[in-house]
Amino acid sequence: MQILDGKIVSQAVKNDLTEKIAQLLRENKRPPHLTAILVGTNGASETYIASKIKNCEETGFKSSLHRFEENVTEELLMTTIKKINEDDEIDGILVQLPLPKHIDEQKIINLINPAKDVDGFHPVNAGKMVLGIPTYIPATPYGIMLMLAHYKLETSGKHAVVIGRSNIVGRPMSILLSQDTAYGNCTVTVCHSRTKNLKEICLQADIIVAALGKPCFLTADMVKENAVVIDVGITRVPDASKKSGFAIKGDVDFENVAPKTSYITPVPGGVGLMTIAALLKNTYQAYLQHSNNH
Ligand code: NAD
Repeated sequence: MQILDGKIVSQAVKNDLTEKIAQLLRENKRPPHLTAILVGTNGASETYIASKIKNCEETGFKSSLHRFEENVTEELLMTTIKKINEDDEIDGILVQLPLPKHIDEQKIINLINPAKDVDGFHPVNAGKMVLGIPTYIPATPYGIMLMLAHYKLETSGKHAVVIGRSNIVGRPMSILLSQDTAYGNCTVTVCHSRTKNLKEICLQADIIVAALGKPCFLTADMVKENAVVIDVGITRVPDASKKSGFAIKGDVDFENVAPKTSYITPVPGGVGLMTIAALLKNTYQAYLQHSNNH
Protein backbone atom coordinates (compact mmCIF):
# COMPACT_ATOMS: atom_id res chain seq x y z
CA MET A 1 0.00 0.00 0.00
CA GLN A 2 1.28 3.44 -0.88
CA ILE A 3 -0.07 6.74 0.42
CA LEU A 4 -1.03 9.30 -2.19
CA ASP A 5 0.46 12.20 -0.29
CA GLY A 6 -1.42 15.46 -0.75
CA LYS A 7 1.27 17.34 1.15
CA ILE A 8 4.00 16.37 -1.31
CA VAL A 9 1.95 16.83 -4.46
CA SER A 10 0.30 20.10 -3.45
CA GLN A 11 3.69 21.47 -2.38
CA ALA A 12 5.13 20.61 -5.80
CA VAL A 13 2.26 22.49 -7.47
CA LYS A 14 2.70 25.46 -5.14
CA ASN A 15 6.48 25.57 -5.61
CA ASP A 16 5.97 25.78 -9.35
CA LEU A 17 3.45 28.63 -8.93
CA THR A 18 5.67 30.45 -6.41
CA GLU A 19 8.47 30.47 -8.96
CA LYS A 20 6.15 31.69 -11.73
CA ILE A 21 4.85 34.54 -9.56
CA ALA A 22 8.35 35.52 -8.44
CA GLN A 23 9.19 35.81 -12.15
CA LEU A 24 6.15 38.08 -12.72
CA LEU A 25 7.31 40.34 -9.90
CA ARG A 26 10.83 40.45 -11.35
CA GLU A 27 9.20 41.71 -14.55
CA ASN A 28 7.40 44.39 -12.51
CA LYS A 29 4.02 42.81 -13.16
CA ARG A 30 1.31 42.48 -10.54
CA PRO A 31 0.64 39.07 -8.96
CA PRO A 32 -2.58 37.14 -9.65
CA HIS A 33 -5.43 38.22 -7.38
CA LEU A 34 -8.06 35.87 -5.98
CA THR A 35 -11.03 37.29 -4.14
CA ALA A 36 -13.38 35.28 -1.95
CA ILE A 37 -16.94 35.88 -0.80
CA LEU A 38 -17.88 34.44 2.56
CA VAL A 39 -21.38 34.63 4.03
CA GLY A 40 -22.14 33.89 7.67
CA THR A 41 -19.98 32.22 10.27
CA ASN A 42 -20.09 28.52 9.35
CA GLY A 43 -17.05 26.99 11.08
CA ALA A 44 -16.04 24.72 8.21
CA SER A 45 -16.39 27.54 5.64
CA GLU A 46 -14.28 29.83 7.84
CA THR A 47 -11.58 27.15 8.00
CA TYR A 48 -11.60 26.57 4.23
CA ILE A 49 -11.40 30.30 3.48
CA ALA A 50 -8.60 30.85 6.01
CA SER A 51 -6.65 28.02 4.44
CA LYS A 52 -7.21 29.32 0.89
CA ILE A 53 -6.01 32.80 1.91
CA LYS A 54 -2.96 31.40 3.72
CA ASN A 55 -2.01 29.35 0.66
CA CYS A 56 -2.48 32.37 -1.61
CA GLU A 57 -0.12 34.41 0.55
CA GLU A 58 2.49 31.66 0.82
CA THR A 59 2.57 31.32 -2.95
CA GLY A 60 2.72 35.06 -3.69
CA PHE A 61 -0.87 35.53 -4.88
CA LYS A 62 -2.81 38.56 -3.77
CA SER A 63 -6.02 37.66 -1.96
CA SER A 64 -8.97 39.58 -0.61
CA LEU A 65 -12.09 38.65 1.27
CA HIS A 66 -15.62 40.05 1.17
CA ARG A 67 -17.43 39.03 4.33
CA PHE A 68 -21.18 39.27 4.77
CA GLU A 69 -23.58 38.62 7.63
CA GLU A 70 -25.77 35.50 7.44
CA ASN A 71 -28.80 37.70 6.61
CA VAL A 72 -27.19 39.45 3.61
CA THR A 73 -29.58 40.15 0.75
CA GLU A 74 -29.26 38.49 -2.62
CA GLU A 75 -29.14 41.99 -4.15
CA LEU A 76 -26.06 42.99 -2.15
CA LEU A 77 -24.24 39.79 -3.13
CA MET A 78 -25.17 40.35 -6.77
CA THR A 79 -23.98 43.97 -6.72
CA THR A 80 -20.70 42.87 -5.16
CA ILE A 81 -20.11 40.20 -7.79
CA LYS A 82 -20.88 42.65 -10.60
CA LYS A 83 -18.28 45.04 -9.19
CA ILE A 84 -15.68 42.29 -8.92
CA ASN A 85 -16.46 41.16 -12.48
CA GLU A 86 -15.56 44.65 -13.69
CA ASP A 87 -12.44 45.07 -11.56
CA ASP A 88 -9.42 44.64 -13.82
CA GLU A 89 -7.16 43.99 -10.84
CA ILE A 90 -9.03 40.82 -9.85
CA ASP A 91 -8.48 37.58 -11.76
CA GLY A 92 -10.47 34.99 -9.82
CA ILE A 93 -13.67 34.98 -7.76
CA LEU A 94 -14.77 32.27 -5.43
CA VAL A 95 -18.03 32.17 -3.54
CA GLN A 96 -17.68 29.88 -0.55
CA LEU A 97 -20.58 27.41 -0.56
CA PRO A 98 -23.00 26.64 0.93
CA LEU A 99 -24.83 29.97 0.98
CA PRO A 100 -27.74 30.55 3.41
CA LYS A 101 -31.08 29.08 2.38
CA HIS A 102 -32.62 32.45 1.40
CA ILE A 103 -29.98 32.95 -1.31
CA ASP A 104 -30.36 31.26 -4.68
CA GLU A 105 -26.89 29.72 -5.11
CA GLN A 106 -27.23 29.04 -8.81
CA LYS A 107 -28.37 32.62 -9.46
CA ILE A 108 -25.23 33.90 -7.72
CA ILE A 109 -22.91 31.50 -9.57
CA ASN A 110 -24.52 32.41 -12.90
CA LEU A 111 -23.57 36.02 -12.31
CA ILE A 112 -19.83 35.37 -12.00
CA ASN A 113 -17.88 36.27 -15.12
CA PRO A 114 -16.97 32.80 -16.51
CA ALA A 115 -13.43 34.10 -17.18
CA LYS A 116 -13.04 34.71 -13.41
CA ASP A 117 -14.92 31.60 -12.28
CA VAL A 118 -11.89 29.75 -10.88
CA ASP A 119 -14.14 27.23 -9.09
CA GLY A 120 -15.45 26.14 -12.49
CA PHE A 121 -19.07 26.14 -11.30
CA HIS A 122 -20.53 28.53 -13.90
CA PRO A 123 -22.68 26.70 -16.49
CA VAL A 124 -20.38 27.91 -19.29
CA ASN A 125 -17.34 26.34 -17.63
CA ALA A 126 -19.24 23.22 -16.59
CA GLY A 127 -20.37 22.82 -20.22
CA LYS A 128 -16.86 23.28 -21.56
CA MET A 129 -15.54 20.72 -19.09
CA VAL A 130 -18.12 18.17 -20.26
CA LEU A 131 -17.12 18.80 -23.89
CA GLY A 132 -13.41 18.51 -23.08
CA ILE A 133 -12.74 22.16 -24.01
CA PRO A 134 -9.95 23.66 -21.85
CA THR A 135 -11.52 25.57 -18.97
CA TYR A 136 -11.51 25.88 -15.18
CA ILE A 137 -12.15 22.45 -13.74
CA PRO A 138 -13.75 22.36 -10.27
CA ALA A 139 -10.87 22.33 -7.82
CA THR A 140 -11.50 19.03 -6.04
CA PRO A 141 -11.78 16.81 -9.12
CA TYR A 142 -8.95 18.78 -10.75
CA GLY A 143 -6.79 18.23 -7.67
CA ILE A 144 -7.50 14.50 -7.80
CA MET A 145 -6.51 14.39 -11.48
CA LEU A 146 -3.25 16.19 -10.59
CA MET A 147 -2.66 13.58 -7.89
CA LEU A 148 -3.23 10.68 -10.32
CA ALA A 149 -0.85 12.33 -12.78
CA HIS A 150 1.84 12.94 -10.15
CA TYR A 151 1.89 9.25 -9.19
CA LYS A 152 1.46 8.20 -12.85
CA LEU A 153 -1.36 5.83 -11.93
CA GLU A 154 -2.68 3.72 -14.76
CA THR A 155 -6.34 4.57 -15.32
CA SER A 156 -7.00 3.50 -18.91
CA GLY A 157 -9.54 0.69 -19.11
CA LYS A 158 -9.95 0.55 -15.33
CA HIS A 159 -13.32 0.45 -13.67
CA ALA A 160 -13.77 3.57 -11.55
CA VAL A 161 -16.64 3.84 -9.09
CA VAL A 162 -17.50 7.36 -7.97
CA ILE A 163 -19.72 7.55 -4.88
CA GLY A 164 -21.58 10.87 -4.96
CA ARG A 165 -23.03 12.88 -7.85
CA SER A 166 -22.75 16.49 -6.63
CA ASN A 167 -21.99 19.22 -9.14
CA ILE A 168 -18.79 20.15 -7.30
CA VAL A 169 -17.23 16.72 -6.79
CA GLY A 170 -18.90 13.48 -7.87
CA ARG A 171 -20.33 14.44 -11.26
CA PRO A 172 -17.30 16.32 -12.63
CA MET A 173 -15.04 13.58 -11.26
CA SER A 174 -16.99 10.91 -13.13
CA ILE A 175 -16.79 12.92 -16.36
CA LEU A 176 -13.05 13.57 -16.08
CA LEU A 177 -12.28 9.91 -15.40
CA SER A 178 -14.30 8.83 -18.43
CA GLN A 179 -12.74 11.31 -20.88
CA ASP A 180 -10.17 10.32 -23.49
CA THR A 181 -7.23 11.92 -21.68
CA ALA A 182 -3.96 10.79 -20.10
CA TYR A 183 -5.54 10.01 -16.70
CA GLY A 184 -9.05 9.29 -17.94
CA ASN A 185 -10.28 6.45 -20.15
CA CYS A 186 -11.89 4.67 -17.21
CA THR A 187 -15.16 2.83 -17.37
CA VAL A 188 -17.09 4.83 -14.79
CA THR A 189 -19.99 3.92 -12.54
CA VAL A 190 -21.59 6.80 -10.65
CA CYS A 191 -23.28 5.80 -7.39
CA HIS A 192 -25.55 7.93 -5.23
CA SER A 193 -28.07 7.80 -2.42
CA ARG A 194 -30.53 5.75 -4.50
CA THR A 195 -27.97 3.20 -5.70
CA LYS A 196 -28.79 -0.43 -4.89
CA ASN A 197 -26.08 -3.04 -4.22
CA LEU A 198 -23.39 -0.44 -3.62
CA LYS A 199 -21.13 -3.00 -1.95
CA GLU A 200 -21.22 -5.33 -4.98
CA ILE A 201 -20.50 -2.42 -7.32
CA CYS A 202 -17.59 -1.19 -5.20
CA LEU A 203 -16.14 -4.70 -5.09
CA GLN A 204 -15.77 -4.52 -8.89
CA ALA A 205 -13.89 -1.24 -8.76
CA ASP A 206 -10.22 -0.78 -9.60
CA ILE A 207 -10.54 2.83 -8.47
CA ILE A 208 -13.01 4.17 -5.89
CA VAL A 209 -13.63 7.86 -5.32
CA ALA A 210 -15.66 8.29 -2.13
CA ALA A 211 -17.39 11.69 -2.07
CA LEU A 212 -20.58 11.39 -0.06
CA GLY A 213 -19.80 13.06 3.27
CA LYS A 214 -20.45 10.09 5.58
CA PRO A 215 -17.51 9.36 7.89
CA CYS A 216 -15.96 5.88 7.56
CA PHE A 217 -18.71 4.82 5.10
CA LEU A 218 -16.44 2.79 2.81
CA THR A 219 -15.42 -0.27 4.76
CA ALA A 220 -12.86 -2.99 3.98
CA ASP A 221 -15.52 -5.51 2.87
CA MET A 222 -16.50 -3.10 0.04
CA VAL A 223 -13.02 -2.86 -1.47
CA LYS A 224 -11.21 -5.42 -3.61
CA GLU A 225 -7.52 -6.21 -3.13
CA ASN A 226 -5.16 -3.65 -4.70
CA ALA A 227 -7.83 -1.09 -5.51
CA VAL A 228 -6.94 2.61 -5.59
CA VAL A 229 -9.02 4.55 -3.04
CA ILE A 230 -9.49 8.31 -3.15
CA ASP A 231 -11.18 9.77 -0.08
CA VAL A 232 -12.83 13.14 -0.66
CA GLY A 233 -14.93 13.25 2.51
CA ILE A 234 -14.38 15.91 5.14
CA THR A 235 -16.68 15.66 8.16
CA ARG A 236 -16.17 17.18 11.60
CA VAL A 237 -16.90 14.62 14.29
CA PRO A 238 -16.88 15.46 18.01
CA ASP A 239 -13.57 14.50 19.65
CA ALA A 240 -12.94 15.60 23.22
CA SER A 241 -9.22 14.78 22.91
CA LYS A 242 -8.75 17.58 20.35
CA LYS A 243 -8.29 21.20 21.31
CA SER A 244 -10.86 22.22 18.69
CA GLY A 245 -13.33 19.67 20.09
CA PHE A 246 -13.62 17.82 16.78
CA ALA A 247 -11.65 15.57 14.47
CA ILE A 248 -11.76 15.54 10.67
CA LYS A 249 -12.94 12.23 9.21
CA GLY A 250 -12.98 11.03 5.64
CA ASP A 251 -15.56 8.81 3.97
CA VAL A 252 -13.22 5.82 4.15
CA ASP A 253 -12.53 3.58 7.14
CA PHE A 254 -8.84 4.23 6.52
CA GLU A 255 -7.39 1.93 9.15
CA ASN A 256 -9.08 -1.19 7.79
CA VAL A 257 -9.30 -0.26 4.10
CA ALA A 258 -5.70 0.94 3.60
CA PRO A 259 -4.01 -2.49 3.96
CA LYS A 260 -6.11 -3.85 1.06
CA THR A 261 -5.34 -1.02 -1.35
CA SER A 262 -2.48 -0.37 -3.77
CA TYR A 263 -2.81 3.41 -3.24
CA ILE A 264 -4.93 5.46 -0.89
CA THR A 265 -5.33 9.12 0.08
CA PRO A 266 -5.36 9.99 3.81
CA VAL A 267 -7.72 12.49 5.50
CA PRO A 268 -6.40 14.96 6.38
CA GLY A 269 -3.36 15.27 4.11
CA GLY A 270 -4.90 14.08 0.86
CA VAL A 271 -7.56 15.52 -1.43
CA GLY A 272 -8.18 18.66 0.68
CA LEU A 273 -4.67 19.96 0.08
CA MET A 274 -4.92 19.13 -3.62
CA THR A 275 -8.17 21.11 -3.86
CA ILE A 276 -6.39 24.28 -2.76
CA ALA A 277 -3.44 23.66 -5.06
CA ALA A 278 -5.86 23.20 -7.97
CA LEU A 279 -7.69 26.41 -7.08
CA LEU A 280 -4.39 28.31 -7.20
CA LYS A 281 -3.58 26.74 -10.57
CA ASN A 282 -6.96 27.86 -11.90
CA THR A 283 -6.35 31.38 -10.56
CA TYR A 284 -2.95 31.56 -12.22
CA GLN A 285 -4.60 30.42 -15.47
CA ALA A 286 -7.25 33.14 -15.08
CA TYR A 287 -4.49 35.70 -14.58
CA LEU A 288 -2.73 34.63 -17.79
CA GLN A 289 -5.99 34.75 -19.75
CA HIS A 290 -6.86 38.11 -18.20
CA SER A 291 -3.41 39.59 -18.95
CA ASN A 292 -3.66 38.47 -22.58
CA ASN A 293 -6.97 40.30 -22.90
CA HIS A 294 -5.69 43.61 -21.51
P1 NAD B 1 -23.17 16.52 -1.34
O1 NAD B 1 -23.90 16.37 -0.05
O2 NAD B 1 -23.51 17.63 -2.27
O3 NAD B 1 -23.31 15.17 -2.16
C1 NAD B 1 -23.22 13.93 -1.54
C2 NAD B 1 -23.51 12.86 -2.56
O4 NAD B 1 -23.40 11.60 -1.92
C3 NAD B 1 -24.90 12.95 -3.17
O5 NAD B 1 -24.79 12.91 -4.57
C4 NAD B 1 -25.63 11.73 -2.65
O6 NAD B 1 -26.50 11.13 -3.62
C5 NAD B 1 -24.48 10.78 -2.31
N1 NAD B 1 -24.82 9.90 -1.19
C6 NAD B 1 -25.32 10.27 0.01
N2 NAD B 1 -25.53 9.17 0.76
C7 NAD B 1 -25.16 8.12 0.04
C8 NAD B 1 -25.15 6.72 0.25
N3 NAD B 1 -25.57 6.19 1.41
N4 NAD B 1 -24.69 5.91 -0.71
C9 NAD B 1 -24.26 6.43 -1.90
N5 NAD B 1 -24.25 7.75 -2.17
C10 NAD B 1 -24.70 8.57 -1.21
O7 NAD B 1 -21.62 16.55 -0.94
P2 NAD B 1 -20.34 17.10 -1.75
O8 NAD B 1 -20.35 18.55 -1.75
O9 NAD B 1 -20.17 16.35 -3.01
O10 NAD B 1 -19.21 16.63 -0.72
C11 NAD B 1 -19.02 15.28 -0.37
C12 NAD B 1 -18.00 15.19 0.73
O11 NAD B 1 -16.76 15.70 0.25
C13 NAD B 1 -18.30 16.03 1.97
O12 NAD B 1 -17.78 15.36 3.11
C14 NAD B 1 -17.55 17.31 1.74
O13 NAD B 1 -17.21 17.97 2.95
C15 NAD B 1 -16.32 16.78 1.07
N6 NAD B 1 -15.61 17.72 0.24
C16 NAD B 1 -14.28 17.72 0.34
C17 NAD B 1 -13.52 18.55 -0.45
C18 NAD B 1 -12.04 18.49 -0.33
O14 NAD B 1 -11.38 19.42 -0.70
N7 NAD B 1 -11.49 17.38 0.17
C19 NAD B 1 -14.14 19.42 -1.35
C20 NAD B 1 -15.52 19.38 -1.47
C21 NAD B 1 -16.26 18.52 -0.67
